[in-house]
Amino acid sequence: MSRPPVIGVMSRITPFFHEGRPYPRAGVALGYLRAIERAGGVPVILPMTRDDAILDRAYRLIDGLLLPGGADMHPMHYGEEPHRALEQVDPKRDIAELAICRRALADDMPILAICRGQQVLNVVAGGTLWQDLHTQVGDHCHRHFQNMTEEWPTHSVAIEAGTLLHRIIGSREAFTNSYHHQAVKKLGEGLIVNSRATDGVIEGIEHPGKTFCLGVQWHPELLHEEEDFNLDLFFHHVAASKHAAHVKEEAARGAPA
Ligand code: MN
Repeated sequence: MSRPPVIGVMSRITPFFHEGRPYPRAGVALGYLRAIERAGGVPVILPMTRDDAILDRAYRLIDGLLLPGGADMHPMHYGEEPHRALEQVDPKRDIAELAICRRALADDMPILAICRGQQVLNVVAGGTLWQDLHTQVGDHCHRHFQNMTEEWPTHSVAIEAGTLLHRIIGSREAFTNSYHHQAVKKLGEGLIVNSRATDGVIEGIEHPGKTFCLGVQWHPELLHEEEDFNLDLFFHHVAASKHAAHVKEEAARGAPA
């Protein structure tokens, strides 16, 4: 089977104005699409919809799921009231992403979850989030929202030996960019921590019981031109999705997988 796998990327609604009138757009940051293409996958932008039938049809077109970065999730989804430092929330996006992630996790579809995507994954698994690192974690917390442009890594990350992330990166330490004020607090069921910043903040999670279910808190799609290990995350996700597509096609044909 040589068909390149289709990687679905959840879209977001962004404001856009023409001659003073609003024409909101749906889309994703270009870096995700470029990184998937460089890794040999076919990126497809998924509609951010609350219509279950539409989301279901879109889901059945894809072989792998990429959950991208974005703004805050409403804490009601993990049983908390909004902290005063909670930032912008898009309730429709929360609903759509939680639904598709829940399904992909149940089906063992390969998932690459980036930044907010990792937070979505953790909440789907029953975990919770720090709503605002800098006020909730304490003074020892590093600056996790960098001022430098995104192609520059800003803090180090210690990687747990023997994890999927370790196998991909091949090192116990990496340097990453950082654009988040939230992070995983209580880990969701079945997930493990694969990396932390030196202040203890969780920078990556994964599900050892799944074929490929990996989250990182940083933005590899903004670093892959510079740092090969970041592109490797996409290569491994695309490879796992290609295998999943093969298994699915063989099953549809009635042949043994
Ligand atoms: Mn960070």
